[in-house]
Amino acid sequence: MPIPAHDSVSLVIPLFNEEAMLPALVREIESFRQGRPEVQQVVFVDDGSTDQTARVARDLVSGLEGYVLIQFSRNFGHQLAVTAGMHFATSDAAVILDADLQDPLPVVGEMIDTWRQGFDVVYGVRRQRDGDSLLQRATASAFYRVFRRMSEVDAPLDTGDFRLVSRAVLDAYRELGEQQPYVRGLISWLGFNQTGVVYDRAPRAGGSSKYAWRDRMRLALDGIASFSGRPLRLAVRIGLGVSLLSLIGLVWVLIARFFTDTTVPGWSSILFVGFFFGGLQIFFLGVVGSYLARVYEEVKGRPRYVVRDVWRPGESGPES
Ligand code: UDP
Ligand code: MG
Repeated sequence: MPIPAHDSVSLVIPLFNEEAMLPALVREIESFRQGRPEVQQVVFVDDGSTDQTARVARDLVSGLEGYVLIQFSRNFGHQLAVTAGMHFATSDAAVILDADLQDPLPVVGEMIDTWRQGFDVVYGVRRQRDGDSLLQRATASAFYRVFRRMSEVDAPLDTGDFRLVSRAVLDAYRELGEQQPYVRGLISWLGFNQTGVVYDRAPRAGGSSKYAWRDRMRLALDGIASFSGRPLRLAVRIGLGVSLLSLIGLVWVLIARFFTDTTVPGWSSILFVGFFFGGLQIFFLGVVGSYLARVYEEVKGRPRYVVRDVWRPGESGPES
């Protein structure tokens, strides 16, 4: 059966120190492509790996069709690697997935079928996260719920970046120039016809997680800060509430001073008040500061990522 011209699919796969994972990954992709010839392009984005990821990738795919390897000049982070991959995807739809096969390829097939029914975004909804620790699952689930309440976009629960996006969405995404993109939030924000497919997230098939807790935390804060002004408004409200309370306290102090003769040693309460308000102020300065930092990042207007090399099978690669 010939494949209609408007029906091709790209896979977008960020790679950071995934040399251990690559052989299995390429094998899986190739066997998947046997039954899915519409997968005409595979975009690997090497996010500044410090191991042999790029060389191994080139060796593995040198005789294969449709691969392209984008190499960043350094590590720019997962979200920017995905963004670059989406920029380089040339097919009628692209599927974003992790290199570690936690996002199973059969689900990609399901996503493609769902896309053909007329959806622009088909995201993977995780039924369970067996591959992750209990703590990781609990914090992830809490985050998605907080994000949903905080943000002004209607983001689906329990989804990562594993999703299919149509050409229309890819083109719209290109227009978004945020320095620290939060990919899944931005795609929700874009709208279009969105739907989900439920799947079981597999454990990492090899290598180790490239996301430290620090990175996860950062991703969570980026997500909230880029989609919600609510922490700022919350700061204002709590600030107002606390000032009101201290006003009442002041009245009480004045009454006690002038109309009673209780002498108060009072150093503990003074310390308490000092600590409390000191802490509150620093906390909300931090909230304001984190937004200011984002504004600063945006106004600098630097390119978001720097590509060192774009390589396709059949071309000779750089010496590294
Ligand atoms: N990754 C990346 N840049 C980074 C960190 C991770 O491109 O700075 C890639 C990594 O190679 C993988 C995907 O992002 O393909 C998800 O990373 P990982 O599986 O380590 O995250 P986890 O599944 O543990 O959240
Ligand atoms: Mg993973």
